[in-house]
Amino acid sequence: MPKTGRFLAILIFITSRLGAPGSSTEAFGAEVFVLPTPNRAIFETGGESRYFTPTPGKDWRSGTFGCVRTDGWQMHEGLDIRHTKTDLRGEALDPIYASVAGRVAYLNHNIGLSNYGKYVVLEHRLQGLTFYTTYAHLKEFAAGLSTGDEVRQGQVIATMGRTSNTRQAISKDRAHLHFEISLRLNDRYAGWHSAHMKGYRNDHGNWNGRNFAGIDPREVLLKQNSLGSKFSFLEFIRSRSELCRVLVRDTRFPWLKANTALIRRNPVADREGVAGYEIGLDFNGVPFLLIPKATSEIGAGPKIELLSVNEKEQSLRPCRKLVRKQGNKWTLGSSGSQLLDLLTY
Ligand SMILES: [Zn+2]
Repeated sequence: MPKTGRFLAILIFITSRLGAPGSSTEAFGAEVFVLPTPNRAIFETGGESRYFTPTPGKDWRSGTFGCVRTDGWQMHEGLDIRHTKTDLRGEALDPIYASVAGRVAYLNHNIGLSNYGKYVVLEHRLQGLTFYTTYAHLKEFAAGLSTGDEVRQGQVIATMGRTSNTRQAISKDRAHLHFEISLRLNDRYAGWHSAHMKGYRNDHGNWNGRNFAGIDPREVLLKQNSLGSKFSFLEFIRSRSELCRVLVRDTRFPWLKANTALIRRNPVADREGVAGYEIGLDFNGVPFLLIPKATSEIGAGPKIELLSVNEKEQSLRPCRKLVRKQGNKWTLGSSGSQLLDLLTY
């Protein structure tokens, strides 16, 4: 092909890529996340009701992430993203894209085993972080998709659906993608579960939902959209609002290896050796800040100790009940204790 012809062909190729949903960033590698479905209304002013699928009788906010269920007292860990096209019978047809390049970590084929129905978990490593994206209520996986497969950003991994094991089925008009961005608390979850959750079945091994702490995908996508190439996922995680700070007298737990980028420097601990970590948790229990501490700084005491609570954050987002007030004193709630026990198992 002559040079100008080839140049034109490349130009046409690039232009056509820009028009294809979910694939423009794949061509340039500029964005950490691409939208996981063809629905782009999240970026449109007033587009919320076209982007989110609410729970029956509620407004679009009930399809967002956070304390948005049961009058603010129940957590929804992801986004419920509305379908954009249906077949003649009214079933959703939207393709599901890998939001980030990564590896297929888990596929749940058995609808009866989860309120997420058929779902995929992808694992991603970036900037000293290990994180996961989850795609739930799927109709079917892309042909041949298997655990361990590498997937490109924007690659079609599934078709949207409405699978779930809940008694109340998801109706056709509410077909949506439940999409999560999360971090995994412990790669030894299965062992912790058998020791601590006696009487509760664990059908998903280390991929049990209890082992994941989600962050708000909407906040991530909007931030990335406004910052463009200046967006850093690591900075996003590091700048979570702190709900509480705990001291953990333990120096060996999997989070430290999976998320090295969240560990700060402390010259005293560098010099004297690390005896524990001060850990900042966000309202959903994401340990986004870890400060190594020396024995001379923390002394002796219980393995896990609550140091402080951001009361404003707790009053804004109380639904995870990680901490509670008894009289004038804040303590870890049972879900907070359980989370830290799992983190440091
Ligand atoms: Zn959902």
